[in-house]
Amino acid sequence: MKVEVLCRGFPGKADVGFLGFSNVALITTERERIVFDTGAMGVRLNLLDALEKCSVRPCDVNKVVLSHLHYDHCENAYLFPNAAFFVSEDEWDYAIKGDDLLIPHGIVDFLKGRNLCLVKDGTDIAQGLKVISTPGHTPGGISLVLEIEGGKWVLAGDVVKNRIELATGHVDMTLDPAASEHSIAKIRKLAHRVLPGHDGWLRVDGGRVTVEESPSITVMLPEGMKGGANRYFNLTVEEPIAIGQQDHY
Ligand SMILES: [Zn+2]
Repeated sequence: MKVEVLCRGFPGKADVGFLGFSNVALITTERERIVFDTGAMGVRLNLLDALEKCSVRPCDVNKVVLSHLHYDHCENAYLFPNAAFFVSEDEWDYAIKGDDLLIPHGIVDFLKGRNLCLVKDGTDIAQGLKVISTPGHTPGGISLVLEIEGGKWVLAGDVVKNRIELATGHVDMTLDPAASEHSIAKIRKLAHRVLPGHDGWLRVDGGRVTVEESPSITVMLPEGMKGGANRYFNLTVEEPIAIGQQDHY
């Protein structure tokens, strides 16, 4: 089994709205192509490019696992015509109520007409690939546990959005802080490596979290705007995890 990050998550927020860059991952097994989260519509072309670089056509993807149904994780579900979609029972019950403003109704309607598999804690998606229930950010959040290279790698979704949340257990933007804290403790206990919803890979070693990579984005203003070389703005996350933050966990 192999996992590749197709679209990179980023942990920043903007004052004018959500950036909404979440991690999209491709898991390749001997027989299957499985996509974990699909990203927001704004990364659709990047996602198609990334799939092409991996020599995978959208129609070859046979399973799509959605960590939860916020727009930045599910809006490209439309791209995969032959996939079975995996969503937790609790997330589905929550989504069809229609109260969460960050869940696109169009995606919920789309999923109603697809091969939709409602999963729960412990559901196997493939050999060595299991769902764990990680509520908090939303009531039905799930993460995927991959048994790979002799360790357990967790694709977390937004129950762990970034390095600080994994290190401290304290989170921003959660519907249930106590459930989030419990879910994060569960992930820290079992994982050797974690891909948060909006940050690069993190390593967990004896409960300690270290950063493997620093995500960055470049913002480009239109050609011809005043500023010359400053038309490009690079935002790089180089924030280490402070020892104090982990001691308070
Ligand atoms: Zn998100």
